Amino acid sequence: MNEKSDKDFVKEICARDVDFSQWYIDVVRKAELADYAPVRGCMVIRPYGFAIWEYLRDELDRRIKATGHENAYFPLLIPESFLAKEAEHVEGFSPQVAWVTKGGDEDLEERLAVRPTSEAIICQMYSKWIRSWRDLPVLINQWANVMRWEKVTRLFLRTSEFLWQEGHTAHRTEPEAKQEALMVLDLYHEFLNDYLAIPAHKGVKTDREKFAGAVRTYAVEALMPDGRALQAGTTHNLGQHFARVFDITFLEEDNLLHYVWQTSWGVSTRLMGALIMVHGDDAGLKIPPRVAPIQAVIVPITFEKSKAEVLEAARALKGELAAAGVRVRLDDRDEYTPGWKFNEWELRGVPLRIELGPKDLAAGVVTAVRRDNRKKEQVPRGDAAPWVNAKLDEIQTDMLKAATAYRDEHTREVTSRDDFYLVFEGRPGFVKAPWCGDTLCEERLSEETGATIRFLPLEDTPADGFKCVGCGSEASQWAYFAKAY
Ligand SMILES: [Zn+2]
Repeated sequence: MNEKSDKDFVKEICARDVDFSQWYIDVVRKAELADYAPVRGCMVIRPYGFAIWEYLRDELDRRIKATGHENAYFPLLIPESFLAKEAEHVEGFSPQVAWVTKGGDEDLEERLAVRPTSEAIICQMYSKWIRSWRDLPVLINQWANVMRWEKVTRLFLRTSEFLWQEGHTAHRTEPEAKQEALMVLDLYHEFLNDYLAIPAHKGVKTDREKFAGAVRTYAVEALMPDGRALQAGTTHNLGQHFARVFDITFLEEDNLLHYVWQTSWGVSTRLMGALIMVHGDDAGLKIPPRVAPIQAVIVPITFEKSKAEVLEAARALKGELAAAGVRVRLDDRDEYTPGWKFNEWELRGVPLRIELGPKDLAAGVVTAVRRDNRKKEQVPRGDAAPWVNAKLDEIQTDMLKAATAYRDEHTREVTSRDDFYLVFEGRPGFVKAPWCGDTLCEERLSEETGATIRFLPLEDTPADGFKCVGCGSEASQWAYFAKAY
């Protein structure tokens, strides 16, 4: 690839205003996060994308373990008879299940499902492992791939195979299970907020939107720059539904057999899609420092006669930053101009770019440019390491502030039916509106506007005196609507 075509390559990103979907795909592919696989609907996560996923995963894993959970691994294949045990569950997933029917040349006696989720296999095992109240609670998480055959796919956002974590817990009492589902909801909410700089809303799903087989589904819902909501994670209070189907009982202190109370919860590589969309701009990615594989890149500005001196200073600076805990890269590639490198690292979303040239050396400074707002600052060379660390924290905070301001500007209240229909001729973001609580009304609203109820507030929100925006009858509560991914 020669220099000219490289420059064009960086510029070949569709503007967000022109076509947001195209912008997204361009950024994912040109920043080398992921690519399409030979099997339709599957993706290859490339090293740069996988590095982001690893930082995200490791931190979430740390938080999951810190709340008392342990990791385990269950098999990829689930016998059809296990999956078929729970009617609602199997019905919910059956259009998307991929099946293994042969081992070598031989037909299998029973079809095996490639897991679309692992309730069926995990519940089967829990029914063997759990005997007494002393065995409870069981708090297990698994990091795994799952497969749901998708007709329309988009890298990270909707792929047939994706990576996720799925927590599966069993408890002695109903309040414990409910508390677990809400605790993990908070955990997800905080993780998104202070690690990914994504300010999500949290709430409970309506019956129509809940997970097949759950009593209650809770979700964190984030807002994307095109005005669509994205469900970033869910937790489910499963009640005793699966326990009855899979016969998971324990001997209580009263010497009677009781069914356990269960939860399940998960987030997936979809979070990568949210991260890309929430923060990116027309120049490409903006990665929050905490999850950035490269937090600072040093680009030496070299001229023939000062080259050796500048490179030496750049190497020293790199060593100093690395020793201070900064994930730093020195881009000393000869074949690219500094301008080309600036474009590339902007595209790849590196939070801080440090320029070092003969003028900086002479003045005893380094020049730094923030990716989030492009502000340029000069810092005394001697202060570089603590300054960079403080600046990365500031960028993280400012990115959350910007995303929060956007979310709040695009969360509005609408109380009349006419306004509701009018506002959903576009993509207004989240719309809080009074609703009657009826599923048929919810369905009709959704068909007519393209918006769905993303969540109901966790606390009681009586809507006394208001009429439902769908049917005009007395409203029973407030609901948050949006068009969604
Ligand atoms: Zn209604």
